[in-house]
This record gives sequence, C-alpha cells and structure tokens, in this order.
Amino acid sequence: MNVRAKLFGILLALVLIVSGVYFGTTQGYLESRFGHFSATEAAAIFHNFYVEHGGSWEGVEQADVPEDESRAENGGIALLSPEGKVLFHKGEVDAETVTLHGFHKTITENGKNIGMAYTYRWATDETLQLKDYIQSSMFTEGLRVGALTLTASLLLGLWLTWLLTLPLKRLIPSIQRIAKGNFRIDIPVTSADEYGQVTKAINQMARQLDRAEETRKQLTADVTHELRTPLAIIQSQLENIQSGGRDVSPETLLPIQDEVIRLTKLIEDLHQLTLADSGRLPLDRQPTDIAPLMDRIIGKFKLDADERGIRIVRKYAEVSLVVDIDPNRMTQAFYNLLSNALRYTPSAGQVVCEIDRNEHRGASYAAVTISDTGIGIPEDKLPYLFERFYRVEEARSRHSGGMGLGLSIAKGFVEAHQGTITVRSKIGEGTSFTVLLPI
Ligand code: ATP
Ligand code: MG
Repeated sequence: MNVRAKLFGILLALVLIVSGVYFGTTQGYLESRFGHFSATEAAAIFHNFYVEHGGSWEGVEQADVPEDESRAENGGIALLSPEGKVLFHKGEVDAETVTLHGFHKTITENGKNIGMAYTYRWATDETLQLKDYIQSSMFTEGLRVGALTLTASLLLGLWLTWLLTLPLKRLIPSIQRIAKGNFRIDIPVTSADEYGQVTKAINQMARQLDRAEETRKQLTADVTHELRTPLAIIQSQLENIQSGGRDVSPETLLPIQDEVIRLTKLIEDLHQLTLADSGRLPLDRQPTDIAPLMDRIIGKFKLDADERGIRIVRKYAEVSLVVDIDPNRMTQAFYNLLSNALRYTPSAGQVVCEIDRNEHRGASYAAVTISDTGIGIPEDKLPYLFERFYRVEEARSRHSGGMGLGLSIAKGFVEAHQGTITVRSKIGEGTSFTVLLPI
C-alpha cells in the first residue's frame, strides 16, 4: 500500500469513528434527557395529588397516572416515601427494578422532602411522540451531515495526501539515479520543511559520493602512473642483463635496487595515506614533550645536513610543551617536513625548527614551524601542495626521488590529531610550514 492509500484509509477511519461516537452520544443523551423529563412529570403528578389531598399520601395507590399500552411494556412508575416505603407502583416491571434502574426526582413541599418519584421506560403519549420525532429527525440529519463531512474530508484528504507525497515522488527519480551510480545531481530545494532538509541531505550525499568517486579514479590513475616508471626501469635493466649474457656485477643491480626501494616506499606511503583519508588511522596517544621529539628527528638528518653544509637551527620555547599525540605518527609528519626542507634547500643553506606556544581563538596550541632558505614555491602552486602525488616540478622531483606523497601524509596525520598545517613561501627565499597541535 502506498503512502497515499494509507493516509486516505486513516482519514476514512477517523470520519467513521467520529460519526459513530456522535450517534452513540446523541442518542444516549436524548434517552437520558427524556428519562429525566418523565421522572419530573411523574413527580408533578404525585405532588398535585399530595396538595389536593391536604398534604397527605392517603389513597395515593388509587392516583390517576396516565398509562399507555405500548410504553407500559417493560416500563414502570413508582413513588417512595422519604423512609423508602413503596407508596405507589404501576407497570410491568416490579417496583424494585423501577427504583433501582429508573430515573428519579425528589418531590418537595415548602422545602420539605415528601417523597421520590421513579420512572423506568415510562412516558406520556406526548413525550413519547416528541422523543420519537426528535430521534428520527436527528438520525436523518446525522446521516446527511455525516455523508457531507465524509465527502468533504475525503476530498480534503485526497488533496492533503497529494500535497504531502508530491515532494517525495519528485525525489524518487533522483534517488534512483544515485543508486545507479550517477552522482552528478542537484535537486532544487524548494521548501524549508523536512522535505527541503531531506533534499539538501541527498544533494550533499551525492556530492560526497561524487568526490569519493573522483578521488578513487584519480588515485588509481596516479598509482598506475607512479608504478609504471620504476617497473619499466627494472624491466629494461633486467633485459640488459639477460642480453649481456655475462656474470651480473653488483653495480648493475644498483639501479634495480633503487627502483625497488622507491616502490616499497610508495606502497608504504599509500597505505598510511589511505588510513588517514578514511579516518581510520589508529592513534596511540600519549603525553609527549615536543622538544625532545623534534631533537630525535633532527638527529636523523644531522649527517646528511653536515655533508651538504646545511645548518639546522633550533629555536625552542623555554617552557616544555607537552601535547597528547601519537609520537610515531607525528614523528612521520615532522620527518616529511624536515626531509622536504633539506631536499629543496641548496648547500650552505639553513633550516630553522621553531617550537612555541600559540593562543588562537581561546585555545592553546603547540606551534612547530620548519623554515628553510630553499628554492621556494610559486604562490599559484601553494593551494595544491597538500594534494597527493602533487609535485611542483614533475621532472626534477622525480629525479631527486620525490613521489609527492610526503605532504599529504603529513597533513592527514596532523588533522587526525585535530591539528592544522599551513605553508608560507617566497620563491628564491624559502618556505615555512607551521603545524598547530591542540594542547
Ligand atoms: P615524497 O615526500 O613523497 O618523497 P615530495 O617531497 O616530492 O615526495 P611532498 O613532500 O608531498 O612530495 O611535496 C610536494 C611538492 O612540494 C614537492 O615535490 C616540492 O615540489 C614541493 N615542496 C615541498 N616542500 C618544499 C620545500 N620545503 N621547499 C620547496 N618546495 C617544496
Ligand atoms: Mg616530501
């Protein structure tokens, strides 16, 4: 059953219930009103008798109480003294039933209780006629009004369900297109209600899926591209060796080994990047003093820097800065930044590592800045720097060994720690990366 049929059914049931309750209560109400009326009437007859007989019930059992055959059936009338004694009774039903289940009215004279009139399914001819008339006219009128409300509410329901289900119906083709893998959709948002919110959410979901799909395609293309070069080199070297037919000297194997090392690094980097990208990077956080951590990383580059005459300068804050980080992941991130700084700085240059406390929008951060006096990066290239496989100069980077993954890994790891990474650079003067980690 579709939503429209369900809503329609609910409305129909509602109208039927309301009509049923209306009939039940009006009929019951009429019944009780007439019961009370007949008791009042009976009380008036008995009171008349009492007054006419000089304030006494003497001979009341002979009182002239009108009675009709039809209504006397299953009916009765009774008078009880204030003490509860039956003074008068008439009708098919015994006095006990009449007083137990009938309607009653107290009879008073000069404010004094002189008796109680009871009637059970008892009425005079006129009241009986009036009752029948009212009941039958109410019944026909009720039917008419009921039919009218039913039609009106069903029409209203039809319009209402159309109104409620129309936006949903409009959404269905778009959702089906998404299900088929077509994420390039933008459903116009026409209202601010729940339907509008659902539409917005669907648009957002489609955009997200589209981005993910783009990234996946791009990644596959990039990885294929990166794998092709080292594999081609390995293959041609192996062919050379085979066609040479001589013993293989260790030097001949060196370029092959180089390429294998590159491939291994590529695969390891990709693995880390995938973890960071999908937000599933396991972090083994522990309170870590930043300065000794940086010292250890710098230590790894000391030999290389000394050889090339590059000075690594430390500018650490006087107080120690302890942050809750995964030391291994953050070592990897800083290692990537430092290796870039050294790689892209010519001999006799300088690399500065700065650690400081930073207050930003009411929060405290440990700020680590790694600056170099290297070749710098053109301003128009800065926005792409953290993208995977991005290299400012394709050819030279490849020659100097870069894959273009170091910065995207650094960014992924820093962001996994709720931190930020930013870059400033001036061509020919140097580059400076700043990492902020919340304390
Ligand atoms: P990988 O780090 O994967 O071995 P890579 O160093 O080329 O390779 P990234 O670290 O992501 O890759 O850096 C991307 C590019 O940004 C580099 O190719 C380089 O052109 C530029 N770059 C990064 N750091 C610097 C720097 N300190 N000075 C100048 N250029 C830089
Ligand atoms: Mg790098």
